[in-house]
Amino acid sequence: MSSTAFIIPVDPKAPSSKAVPSLNLAKLWSTVPAGSKPPKVGATRIFYNTPEEKEGSNLTALTSLGDSFGSKSGDSKRELVRKVVGSAVKAVKDLGEGVKEVAVDASLDPHAAAVAANLSAYKFSLKTEGSASYKPETGNYPPEKLSFHPLAGSKDWDSGAIYAKAQNFARTLMELPANILTPTAFTERVKTEFAGIPNVEIIVRDEAWAQEKGMRTFLSVTKGTDEPAKFLEIHYNGASKDSQPLAFVGKGITFDSGGISLKPAAGMKLMRGDMGGAATVVSAALAIAQLQLPVNLIVATPLCENLPGPSANKPGDIIYAMNGKSVEIDNTDAEGRLILSDALYYVSTTYKPHTLIDVATLTGAMVIALGEAFSGVFSTSDSLWQELYAAGEVEYDRFWRMPLDDEFGPQIHSSNADLCNTGGRPAGSCTAALFLKAFVEGIEAKDGGEAPLRWAHLDIAGSMEATRPTPYQEKGMTGRPTRALIEFVRRSSQQ
Ligand SMILES: [Zn+2]
Repeated sequence: MSSTAFIIPVDPKAPSSKAVPSLNLAKLWSTVPAGSKPPKVGATRIFYNTPEEKEGSNLTALTSLGDSFGSKSGDSKRELVRKVVGSAVKAVKDLGEGVKEVAVDASLDPHAAAVAANLSAYKFSLKTEGSASYKPETGNYPPEKLSFHPLAGSKDWDSGAIYAKAQNFARTLMELPANILTPTAFTERVKTEFAGIPNVEIIVRDEAWAQEKGMRTFLSVTKGTDEPAKFLEIHYNGASKDSQPLAFVGKGITFDSGGISLKPAAGMKLMRGDMGGAATVVSAALAIAQLQLPVNLIVATPLCENLPGPSANKPGDIIYAMNGKSVEIDNTDAEGRLILSDALYYVSTTYKPHTLIDVATLTGAMVIALGEAFSGVFSTSDSLWQELYAAGEVEYDRFWRMPLDDEFGPQIHSSNADLCNTGGRPAGSCTAALFLKAFVEGIEAKDGGEAPLRWAHLDIAGSMEATRPTPYQEKGMTGRPTRALIEFVRRSSQQ
Protein backbone atom coordinates (compact mmCIF):
# COMPACT_ATOMS: atom_id res chain seq x y z
CA MET A 1 0.00 0.00 0.00
CA SER A 2 1.31 3.45 -0.83
CA SER A 3 1.82 6.10 1.80
CA THR A 4 0.79 9.70 2.04
CA ALA A 5 3.53 12.10 3.03
CA PHE A 6 2.65 15.25 4.96
CA ILE A 7 5.02 18.16 4.45
CA ILE A 8 4.93 20.77 7.18
CA PRO A 9 7.27 23.79 7.35
CA VAL A 10 8.29 24.57 10.91
CA ASP A 11 9.59 27.78 12.43
CA PRO A 12 12.09 26.25 14.88
CA LYS A 13 11.68 29.22 17.20
CA ALA A 14 7.91 28.78 17.42
CA PRO A 15 6.95 25.29 16.23
CA SER A 16 3.21 25.13 15.72
CA SER A 17 0.78 24.20 12.97
CA LYS A 18 -2.89 23.51 12.87
CA ALA A 19 -2.68 22.01 9.41
CA VAL A 20 -3.07 18.45 10.69
CA PRO A 21 -5.29 18.61 13.79
CA SER A 22 -4.23 15.21 15.10
CA LEU A 23 -0.58 16.22 15.11
CA ASN A 24 1.02 17.91 18.11
CA LEU A 25 3.72 19.65 16.16
CA ALA A 26 5.51 21.24 19.11
CA LYS A 27 5.77 17.83 20.79
CA LEU A 28 6.97 16.13 17.62
CA TRP A 29 9.52 18.85 16.93
CA SER A 30 10.83 18.57 20.50
CA THR A 31 12.06 15.06 19.63
CA VAL A 32 14.49 16.51 17.07
CA PRO A 33 17.86 16.58 18.84
CA ALA A 34 18.58 20.24 19.56
CA GLY A 35 21.95 21.71 18.69
CA SER A 36 23.27 25.12 19.65
CA LYS A 37 21.53 26.57 16.58
CA PRO A 38 18.17 25.69 15.02
CA PRO A 39 18.33 23.38 11.98
CA LYS A 40 19.23 25.21 8.77
CA VAL A 41 16.71 26.30 6.16
CA GLY A 42 15.26 23.22 4.48
CA ALA A 43 16.73 20.70 6.96
CA THR A 44 14.05 18.00 6.92
CA ARG A 45 13.23 15.34 9.52
CA ILE A 46 11.01 12.43 8.59
CA PHE A 47 8.65 10.81 11.12
CA TYR A 48 7.25 7.45 10.09
CA ASN A 49 3.80 6.16 10.95
CA THR A 50 2.78 9.75 11.70
CA PRO A 51 0.05 10.88 12.02
CA GLU A 52 -0.96 7.47 13.30
CA GLU A 53 -4.71 7.49 13.08
CA LYS A 54 -4.83 8.27 9.36
CA GLU A 55 -5.46 5.39 6.99
CA GLY A 56 -2.44 3.62 5.57
CA SER A 57 1.13 4.09 6.68
CA ASN A 58 1.66 7.81 6.64
CA LEU A 59 4.74 9.82 7.21
CA THR A 60 5.37 13.40 8.14
CA ALA A 61 8.24 15.53 6.91
CA LEU A 62 8.97 18.52 9.10
CA THR A 63 11.15 21.05 7.36
CA SER A 64 12.95 23.91 9.06
CA LEU A 65 12.31 27.53 8.13
CA GLY A 66 15.67 28.43 9.69
CA ASP A 67 16.42 30.88 12.45
CA SER A 68 15.36 34.12 10.74
CA PHE A 69 11.97 33.27 9.27
CA GLY A 70 10.14 35.66 11.56
CA SER A 71 12.05 38.64 10.17
CA LYS A 72 11.32 37.82 6.53
CA SER A 73 8.58 39.36 4.42
CA GLY A 74 7.57 39.85 0.80
CA ASP A 75 9.76 38.34 -1.91
CA SER A 76 12.38 36.95 0.48
CA LYS A 77 9.72 35.19 2.58
CA ARG A 78 8.24 33.67 -0.57
CA GLU A 79 11.64 32.36 -1.62
CA LEU A 80 12.18 30.85 1.82
CA VAL A 81 8.88 29.00 1.51
CA ARG A 82 9.90 27.67 -1.91
CA LYS A 83 13.25 26.50 -0.50
CA VAL A 84 11.83 24.63 2.46
CA VAL A 85 9.00 22.98 0.55
CA GLY A 86 11.44 22.03 -2.21
CA SER A 87 13.88 20.54 0.30
CA ALA A 88 11.11 18.50 1.90
CA VAL A 89 9.89 17.19 -1.46
CA LYS A 90 13.45 16.13 -2.23
CA ALA A 91 13.63 14.24 1.07
CA VAL A 92 10.30 12.54 0.33
CA LYS A 93 11.44 11.66 -3.21
CA ASP A 94 14.54 10.02 -1.79
CA LEU A 95 12.30 7.56 0.07
CA GLY A 96 11.53 5.85 -3.24
CA GLU A 97 8.46 4.81 -5.12
CA GLY A 98 6.26 3.97 -2.13
CA VAL A 99 5.10 7.53 -1.65
CA LYS A 100 2.72 8.80 -4.32
CA GLU A 101 0.51 11.26 -2.49
CA VAL A 102 1.95 14.34 -0.84
CA ALA A 103 -0.10 16.70 1.31
CA VAL A 104 1.50 20.08 1.89
CA ASP A 105 0.87 22.59 4.64
CA ALA A 106 0.95 25.54 2.25
CA SER A 107 -0.58 28.05 4.63
CA LEU A 108 2.50 30.33 4.73
CA ASP A 109 2.23 31.04 1.00
CA PRO A 110 0.08 28.65 -1.04
CA HIS A 111 1.28 29.91 -4.43
CA ALA A 112 4.98 29.63 -3.59
CA ALA A 113 4.49 26.24 -1.93
CA ALA A 114 2.73 24.84 -5.00
CA VAL A 115 5.45 26.22 -7.27
CA ALA A 116 8.21 24.61 -5.22
CA ALA A 117 6.43 21.26 -4.86
CA ASN A 118 5.74 20.90 -8.56
CA LEU A 119 9.15 22.14 -9.68
CA SER A 120 11.12 19.94 -7.31
CA ALA A 121 9.19 16.80 -8.24
CA TYR A 122 10.14 17.24 -11.90
CA LYS A 123 12.56 14.82 -13.48
CA PHE A 124 13.33 14.43 -17.15
CA SER A 125 14.41 11.00 -18.32
CA LEU A 126 14.18 8.93 -21.48
CA LYS A 127 15.49 5.80 -19.80
CA THR A 128 13.48 2.75 -20.86
CA GLU A 129 13.50 0.93 -17.52
CA GLY A 130 10.24 0.81 -15.64
CA SER A 131 6.78 0.90 -17.10
CA ALA A 132 6.43 4.65 -17.28
CA SER A 133 8.95 5.54 -19.96
CA TYR A 134 8.33 7.84 -22.90
CA LYS A 135 6.87 6.07 -25.94
CA PRO A 136 8.25 7.70 -29.09
CA GLU A 137 5.65 5.98 -31.32
CA THR A 138 2.72 7.54 -29.51
CA GLY A 139 4.36 10.61 -28.03
CA ASN A 140 2.95 9.57 -24.64
CA TYR A 141 4.79 10.95 -21.68
CA PRO A 142 5.08 9.22 -18.32
CA PRO A 143 2.69 10.46 -15.67
CA GLU A 144 4.18 12.38 -12.79
CA LYS A 145 5.32 10.17 -9.92
CA LEU A 146 4.18 12.36 -7.05
CA SER A 147 0.87 14.14 -6.83
CA PHE A 148 0.47 17.09 -4.52
CA HIS A 149 -2.42 18.67 -2.74
CA PRO A 150 -2.57 21.38 -0.12
CA LEU A 151 -3.99 20.62 3.32
CA ALA A 152 -6.26 23.61 2.76
CA GLY A 153 -7.16 24.22 -0.87
CA SER A 154 -6.97 27.71 -2.35
CA LYS A 155 -6.89 29.59 -5.63
CA ASP A 156 -3.32 30.61 -4.91
CA TRP A 157 -2.25 26.99 -4.63
CA ASP A 158 -3.96 26.21 -7.94
CA SER A 159 -2.27 29.13 -9.68
CA GLY A 160 1.13 28.10 -8.29
CA ALA A 161 0.64 24.60 -9.66
CA ILE A 162 -0.25 26.01 -13.08
CA TYR A 163 2.83 28.27 -13.09
CA ALA A 164 5.16 25.41 -12.14
CA LYS A 165 3.66 22.89 -14.53
CA ALA A 166 4.05 25.40 -17.34
CA GLN A 167 7.70 25.81 -16.42
CA ASN A 168 8.09 22.03 -16.31
CA PHE A 169 6.60 21.85 -19.79
CA ALA A 170 9.23 24.34 -20.99
CA ARG A 171 11.90 22.20 -19.32
CA THR A 172 10.69 19.12 -21.16
CA LEU A 173 10.65 20.91 -24.52
CA MET A 174 14.19 22.14 -23.88
CA GLU A 175 15.48 18.76 -22.69
CA LEU A 176 14.00 16.73 -25.53
CA PRO A 177 16.74 15.96 -28.05
CA ALA A 178 16.65 17.53 -31.49
CA ASN A 179 15.94 14.23 -33.29
CA ILE A 180 12.70 13.87 -31.29
CA LEU A 181 11.68 17.51 -30.95
CA THR A 182 11.90 18.74 -34.54
CA PRO A 183 10.12 21.96 -35.52
CA THR A 184 7.17 19.85 -36.70
CA ALA A 185 7.09 17.81 -33.47
CA PHE A 186 7.26 21.02 -31.46
CA THR A 187 4.10 22.33 -33.13
CA GLU A 188 2.31 18.98 -32.70
CA ARG A 189 3.17 18.86 -29.01
CA VAL A 190 1.95 22.42 -28.54
CA LYS A 191 -1.37 21.57 -30.21
CA THR A 192 -1.79 18.62 -27.83
CA GLU A 193 -1.05 20.71 -24.74
CA PHE A 194 -3.50 23.46 -25.70
CA ALA A 195 -6.29 21.10 -26.76
CA GLY A 196 -9.61 22.01 -25.17
CA ILE A 197 -8.53 25.35 -23.69
CA PRO A 198 -11.08 28.03 -24.66
CA ASN A 199 -10.21 31.20 -26.61
CA VAL A 200 -7.09 29.73 -28.19
CA GLU A 201 -6.24 29.49 -31.86
CA ILE A 202 -3.09 27.71 -33.02
CA ILE A 203 -1.75 28.41 -36.49
CA VAL A 204 1.18 26.47 -37.94
CA ARG A 205 2.72 28.20 -40.95
CA ASP A 206 5.07 26.45 -43.37
CA GLU A 207 8.06 27.59 -45.42
CA ALA A 208 5.92 28.52 -48.44
CA TRP A 209 3.99 30.96 -46.25
CA ALA A 210 7.22 32.46 -44.90
CA GLN A 211 8.50 32.75 -48.48
CA GLU A 212 5.36 34.61 -49.47
CA LYS A 213 5.79 36.97 -46.52
CA GLY A 214 9.38 37.66 -47.53
CA MET A 215 10.92 36.21 -44.37
CA ARG A 216 14.26 35.78 -46.07
CA THR A 217 16.53 36.02 -43.05
CA PHE A 218 14.45 33.37 -41.23
CA LEU A 219 14.46 31.06 -44.24
CA SER A 220 18.18 31.56 -44.85
CA VAL A 221 18.92 29.73 -41.59
CA THR A 222 16.90 26.64 -42.47
CA LYS A 223 18.63 26.18 -45.84
CA GLY A 224 21.32 24.05 -44.22
CA THR A 225 18.92 21.30 -43.09
CA ASP A 226 16.35 18.94 -44.66
CA GLU A 227 14.05 19.30 -41.65
CA PRO A 228 11.13 21.59 -42.57
CA ALA A 229 10.97 24.92 -40.75
CA LYS A 230 7.73 26.03 -39.09
CA PHE A 231 6.40 29.37 -37.95
CA LEU A 232 4.05 28.78 -35.04
CA GLU A 233 1.47 31.30 -33.89
CA ILE A 234 -0.73 31.07 -30.82
CA HIS A 235 -3.55 33.58 -30.52
CA TYR A 236 -5.15 33.73 -27.10
CA ASN A 237 -8.20 35.99 -26.92
CA GLY A 238 -8.99 36.51 -23.25
CA ALA A 239 -10.13 40.12 -23.63
CA SER A 240 -12.56 41.96 -25.89
CA LYS A 241 -11.89 41.92 -29.62
CA ASP A 242 -10.87 45.56 -29.86
CA SER A 243 -8.42 45.34 -26.98
CA GLN A 244 -4.84 45.77 -28.24
CA PRO A 245 -2.75 42.62 -27.83
CA LEU A 246 0.44 41.88 -25.99
CA ALA A 247 2.93 39.81 -27.98
CA PHE A 248 5.66 37.28 -27.27
CA VAL A 249 8.25 36.15 -29.80
CA GLY A 250 10.50 33.18 -29.00
CA LYS A 251 13.64 31.93 -30.69
CA GLY A 252 13.04 28.35 -31.82
CA ILE A 253 16.29 26.84 -33.06
CA THR A 254 15.59 23.18 -32.29
CA PHE A 255 19.27 22.43 -32.82
CA ASP A 256 22.12 24.85 -33.31
CA SER A 257 25.34 23.38 -34.68
CA GLY A 258 26.53 26.88 -35.56
CA GLY A 259 26.16 26.08 -39.28
CA ILE A 260 29.27 26.60 -41.45
CA SER A 261 30.75 28.55 -38.51
CA LEU A 262 30.59 25.24 -36.68
CA LYS A 263 30.62 25.22 -32.89
CA PRO A 264 33.23 23.19 -30.97
CA ALA A 265 32.07 19.63 -30.23
CA ALA A 266 32.38 19.89 -26.45
CA GLY A 267 29.06 20.85 -24.94
CA MET A 268 27.32 21.13 -28.31
CA LYS A 269 24.48 18.88 -27.14
CA LEU A 270 23.28 21.75 -24.97
CA MET A 271 22.14 23.33 -28.24
CA ARG A 272 19.09 21.04 -28.28
CA GLY A 273 17.82 23.72 -25.90
CA ASP A 274 18.38 26.59 -28.33
CA MET A 275 14.62 26.74 -28.67
CA GLY A 276 14.36 27.83 -25.03
CA GLY A 277 12.84 31.15 -26.04
CA ALA A 278 10.10 29.42 -27.99
CA ALA A 279 9.61 26.88 -25.21
CA THR A 280 9.20 29.49 -22.50
CA VAL A 281 6.88 31.85 -24.37
CA VAL A 282 4.67 28.94 -25.43
CA SER A 283 4.62 27.57 -21.89
CA ALA A 284 3.82 30.97 -20.42
CA ALA A 285 0.98 31.28 -22.93
CA LEU A 286 -0.28 27.86 -21.85
CA ALA A 287 -0.57 29.00 -18.23
CA ILE A 288 -2.08 32.36 -19.24
CA ALA A 289 -4.73 30.53 -21.25
CA GLN A 290 -5.37 27.97 -18.49
CA LEU A 291 -5.85 30.84 -16.04
CA GLN A 292 -8.03 32.60 -18.66
CA LEU A 293 -6.36 35.91 -17.86
CA PRO A 294 -8.22 38.88 -19.40
CA VAL A 295 -5.68 39.76 -22.09
CA ASN A 296 -5.22 39.27 -25.80
CA LEU A 297 -1.92 37.58 -26.47
CA ILE A 298 -0.10 36.80 -29.70
CA VAL A 299 2.77 34.31 -29.54
CA ALA A 300 5.02 33.76 -32.55
CA THR A 301 7.94 31.37 -32.74
CA PRO A 302 10.08 30.78 -35.81
CA LEU A 303 11.27 27.16 -35.59
CA CYS A 304 14.11 25.55 -37.53
CA GLU A 305 17.49 23.85 -37.28
CA ASN A 306 20.84 25.49 -37.92
CA LEU A 307 22.98 22.88 -39.71
CA PRO A 308 25.90 23.10 -42.14
CA GLY A 309 24.19 21.36 -45.12
CA PRO A 310 25.24 22.01 -48.72
CA SER A 311 22.89 24.99 -49.13
CA ALA A 312 23.65 26.54 -45.75
CA ASN A 313 24.37 30.23 -45.20
CA LYS A 314 28.03 31.09 -45.82
CA PRO A 315 29.99 33.79 -44.03
CA GLY A 316 29.79 36.91 -46.17
CA ASP A 317 26.34 36.12 -47.60
CA ILE A 318 24.03 39.12 -47.69
CA ILE A 319 20.31 38.59 -47.18
CA TYR A 320 17.48 41.11 -47.51
CA ALA A 321 15.24 40.82 -44.47
CA MET A 322 11.45 41.06 -44.56
CA ASN A 323 11.66 44.78 -43.76
CA GLY A 324 14.00 45.35 -46.72
CA LYS A 325 17.17 45.89 -44.71
CA SER A 326 20.29 44.11 -45.94
CA VAL A 327 22.09 41.85 -43.48
CA GLU A 328 25.57 40.45 -43.86
CA ILE A 329 26.06 37.06 -42.28
CA ASP A 330 29.57 37.25 -40.92
CA ASN A 331 29.09 34.29 -38.59
CA THR A 332 26.46 31.65 -39.32
CA ASP A 333 26.31 30.82 -35.61
CA ALA A 334 24.67 34.19 -34.97
CA GLU A 335 21.49 32.74 -36.48
CA GLY A 336 19.11 33.59 -33.66
CA ARG A 337 18.93 37.23 -34.63
CA LEU A 338 18.32 36.20 -38.25
CA ILE A 339 15.18 34.22 -37.46
CA LEU A 340 14.03 36.76 -34.86
CA SER A 341 14.45 39.82 -37.08
CA ASP A 342 11.73 38.71 -39.51
CA ALA A 343 9.53 37.46 -36.66
CA LEU A 344 9.80 40.77 -34.80
CA TYR A 345 9.04 42.77 -37.91
CA TYR A 346 6.12 40.53 -38.82
CA VAL A 347 4.55 40.62 -35.35
CA SER A 348 5.07 44.34 -34.74
CA THR A 349 3.60 45.34 -38.12
CA THR A 350 0.86 42.72 -38.44
CA TYR A 351 -0.61 42.72 -34.93
CA LYS A 352 0.50 46.15 -33.66
CA PRO A 353 0.80 45.05 -30.03
CA HIS A 354 1.17 47.58 -27.20
CA THR A 355 3.98 45.49 -25.70
CA LEU A 356 6.31 43.07 -27.43
CA ILE A 357 8.68 40.77 -25.54
CA ASP A 358 11.08 38.46 -27.31
CA VAL A 359 12.87 35.68 -25.49
CA ALA A 360 15.98 34.03 -26.88
CA THR A 361 18.97 31.92 -25.95
CA LEU A 362 20.83 34.48 -27.99
CA THR A 363 24.46 35.03 -27.05
CA GLY A 364 27.30 33.25 -25.32
CA ALA A 365 28.30 36.70 -24.11
CA MET A 366 25.21 36.72 -21.88
CA VAL A 367 26.46 33.60 -20.08
CA ILE A 368 29.72 35.45 -19.40
CA ALA A 369 27.93 38.63 -18.25
CA LEU A 370 25.26 37.28 -15.90
CA GLY A 371 25.88 33.54 -15.51
CA GLU A 372 22.84 31.51 -14.49
CA ALA A 373 21.41 33.88 -11.91
CA PHE A 374 19.68 36.45 -14.10
CA SER A 375 18.09 36.70 -17.51
CA GLY A 376 19.31 39.85 -19.26
CA VAL A 377 16.71 42.42 -20.30
CA PHE A 378 17.19 45.05 -23.00
CA SER A 379 14.26 47.42 -23.25
CA THR A 380 13.11 50.61 -24.92
CA SER A 381 10.70 51.22 -22.04
CA ASP A 382 11.46 52.01 -18.40
CA SER A 383 7.93 51.06 -17.35
CA LEU A 384 8.17 47.68 -19.08
CA TRP A 385 11.54 47.04 -17.45
CA GLN A 386 10.12 47.89 -14.04
CA GLU A 387 7.14 45.58 -14.53
CA LEU A 388 9.36 42.72 -15.68
CA TYR A 389 11.75 43.30 -12.79
CA ALA A 390 8.93 43.19 -10.22
CA ALA A 391 7.45 40.01 -11.72
CA GLY A 392 10.88 38.37 -11.74
CA GLU A 393 11.44 39.19 -8.08
CA VAL A 394 8.03 37.87 -7.01
CA GLU A 395 8.75 34.52 -8.66
CA TYR A 396 12.50 34.60 -7.95
CA ASP A 397 12.94 34.14 -11.69
CA ARG A 398 15.11 37.18 -11.89
CA PHE A 399 16.03 39.81 -14.47
CA TRP A 400 18.90 42.26 -14.79
CA ARG A 401 18.72 45.28 -17.08
CA MET A 402 21.39 45.56 -19.76
CA PRO A 403 22.21 48.55 -21.98
CA LEU A 404 20.33 48.99 -25.25
CA ASP A 405 22.35 51.82 -26.70
CA ASP A 406 23.32 53.23 -30.08
CA GLU A 407 26.92 53.56 -28.87
CA PHE A 408 27.30 49.91 -29.85
CA GLY A 409 26.12 50.71 -33.40
CA PRO A 410 29.50 50.98 -35.15
CA GLN A 411 30.20 47.34 -34.24
CA ILE A 412 27.30 46.14 -36.42
CA HIS A 413 27.03 48.92 -39.01
CA SER A 414 30.37 48.79 -40.76
CA SER A 415 30.07 45.91 -43.23
CA ASN A 416 28.85 46.02 -46.85
CA ALA A 417 25.26 45.70 -45.70
CA ASP A 418 22.97 47.79 -43.48
CA LEU A 419 23.67 45.44 -40.61
CA CYS A 420 26.22 42.76 -39.83
CA ASN A 421 25.04 39.80 -37.81
CA THR A 422 28.02 39.92 -35.45
CA GLY A 423 29.67 42.80 -33.71
CA GLY A 424 32.69 40.93 -32.44
CA ARG A 425 33.29 39.73 -28.91
CA PRO A 426 33.07 42.97 -26.91
CA ALA A 427 29.53 43.55 -25.56
CA GLY A 428 28.25 40.66 -27.69
CA SER A 429 24.85 40.61 -26.00
CA CYS A 430 24.42 44.36 -26.41
CA THR A 431 25.23 44.37 -30.13
CA ALA A 432 22.81 41.46 -30.62
CA ALA A 433 20.04 43.42 -28.88
CA LEU A 434 20.78 46.50 -30.97
CA PHE A 435 20.62 44.36 -34.12
CA LEU A 436 17.12 43.17 -33.18
CA LYS A 437 15.98 46.72 -32.48
CA ALA A 438 16.33 47.54 -36.18
CA PHE A 439 13.40 45.20 -36.92
CA VAL A 440 10.86 46.26 -34.31
CA GLU A 441 8.32 48.75 -35.66
CA GLY A 442 6.65 51.25 -33.35
CA ILE A 443 9.30 51.87 -30.73
CA GLU A 444 10.03 55.42 -31.90
CA ALA A 445 8.09 58.08 -30.00
CA LYS A 446 6.26 60.54 -32.22
CA ASP A 447 5.69 64.23 -31.44
CA GLY A 448 7.31 63.93 -28.04
CA GLY A 449 4.65 61.46 -26.86
CA GLU A 450 4.92 57.83 -25.80
CA ALA A 451 6.09 55.29 -28.38
CA PRO A 452 3.18 53.13 -29.59
CA LEU A 453 5.08 49.96 -28.69
CA ARG A 454 7.04 48.94 -25.60
CA TRP A 455 9.68 46.35 -26.50
CA ALA A 456 11.92 44.16 -24.40
CA HIS A 457 14.44 41.58 -25.53
CA LEU A 458 15.25 38.86 -22.99
CA ASP A 459 18.54 37.04 -23.50
CA ILE A 460 18.27 33.75 -21.60
CA ALA A 461 21.46 32.06 -22.81
CA GLY A 462 22.77 32.08 -19.22
CA SER A 463 19.58 31.22 -17.35
CA MET A 464 18.55 28.40 -19.73
CA GLU A 465 20.53 25.77 -17.85
CA ALA A 466 21.17 25.11 -14.17
CA THR A 467 24.53 23.47 -13.59
CA ARG A 468 23.99 23.49 -9.82
CA PRO A 469 20.83 22.19 -8.19
CA THR A 470 18.80 24.52 -5.97
CA PRO A 471 16.47 23.33 -3.18
CA TYR A 472 13.53 23.25 -5.62
CA GLN A 473 15.11 22.86 -9.02
CA GLU A 474 17.36 20.02 -10.18
CA LYS A 475 20.23 20.47 -12.58
CA GLY A 476 19.33 20.68 -16.24
CA MET A 477 17.28 22.90 -18.50
CA THR A 478 15.49 25.44 -16.35
CA GLY A 479 12.44 26.49 -18.36
CA ARG A 480 13.12 30.06 -17.23
CA PRO A 481 11.69 32.72 -17.43
CA THR A 482 8.29 31.03 -17.86
CA ARG A 483 7.00 31.93 -14.38
CA ALA A 484 8.19 35.52 -14.54
CA LEU A 485 6.40 35.97 -17.86
CA ILE A 486 3.15 34.55 -16.52
CA GLU A 487 3.38 36.75 -13.45
CA PHE A 488 4.15 39.80 -15.59
CA VAL A 489 1.00 39.19 -17.65
CA ARG A 490 -1.14 38.39 -14.61
CA ARG A 491 -0.11 41.64 -12.94
CA SER A 492 -0.57 43.77 -16.04
CA SER A 493 -3.99 42.21 -16.69
CA GLN A 494 -5.12 43.39 -13.27
CA GLN A 495 -4.22 47.03 -13.81
ZN1 LIG B 1 24.03 29.95 -32.96
